[in-house]
Amino acid sequence: MARKLAAGNWKMNGDLALVDGLATLAGNQSTDAPQIVICPPHTLLAQAAKACENSAVEIGGQDCRAEAKGAYTGDIAASMIAETGATHVIVGHSERRDGHHETNPDIRAKAQAAWAAGLTAILCIGESEAEREGSDTLTIIADQLQASLPDNATAENTVIAYEPIWAIGTGKVPTLAQIIETHDMLRAELTARLGDEGAKITLLYGGSVKPTNAAEIFQAENVNGALVGGASLKPTDFQPIIDALAAS
Ligand code: PEP
Repeated sequence: MARKLAAGNWKMNGDLALVDGLATLAGNQSTDAPQIVICPPHTLLAQAAKACENSAVEIGGQDCRAEAKGAYTGDIAASMIAETGATHVIVGHSERRDGHHETNPDIRAKAQAAWAAGLTAILCIGESEAEREGSDTLTIIADQLQASLPDNATAENTVIAYEPIWAIGTGKVPTLAQIIETHDMLRAELTARLGDEGAKITLLYGGSVKPTNAAEIFQAENVNGALVGGASLKPTDFQPIIDALAAS
């Protein structure tokens, strides 16, 4: 059985005041809460990890460089993220694939770098609106998974986030039937490739998850949680999503 996870991606948002609120979020969790990971900007990682030390909330980076160190101005190594106390890192978010021209092989290398640093990689895949309209979504996503997920992935070192690009930050959400279709396919692919480990890998849905639609999305058997952007910036929006996941 895959572990439930509510992950928040602050993107290029947040400040020390928002980090202070994490201690309150952590303190509000019951013992049966799902795993919670917040991914703030890199400048806030150390403070966030400190605010959440020994609590129900874990911290993750939003990207890492595949190389361990070197002349890569502005980039961050997975080991640097781990050193802050973070446990996870997002790799292959569509805003990195599109805005920074990251390819599947780049993302595969980043996932391996994350593992080498002891981090769990939250690996994102998803189709564009044009690809969805071309109704080739399942093939495109399966190909992305195949090409960006390294072979020795386990339920411990990897989380997969399916995020249709057209649903990110737009308020548009696939139908429950579409979410079930993609997640069932991803589970079948993971199991075919990785056996028991594939059956246990946490599969997230991401794209305009809100308190109002979370419970419906979590009805899908192979949705084990959510990667949440905008709604993770407000504890009053993120908490009901965590609660809906716990109740699913
Ligand atoms: C995201 O950026 O991963 C995301 C899902 O954003 P939002 O929830 O704002 O659509």
